[in-house]
Amino acid sequence: MPVRQLPPVRDMSEQQQRGWCCVWCGGPLGVGLGADLGEQRIVPATGAAYSWFPRECPDAAACAGRAAG
Ligand SMILES: [Zn+2]
Repeated sequence: MPVRQLPPVRDMSEQQQRGWCCVWCGGPLGVGLGADLGEQRIVPATGAAYSWFPRECPDAAACAGRAAG
């Protein structure tokens, strides 16, 4: 499966940055659910570096439907 380019972290809600909600559709992910996309290290032009933890829905088709809708 090709790796999708993650959306900019500045467009993500806090819930999405913390991996509580899907990065694509914003749908809530239960504890232990969702696919971990790996830690993303952000080094802003100003301020301290930080990490965020994107996760996506396990059901890609349903996710795409929600993201489009
Ligand atoms: Zn989703």
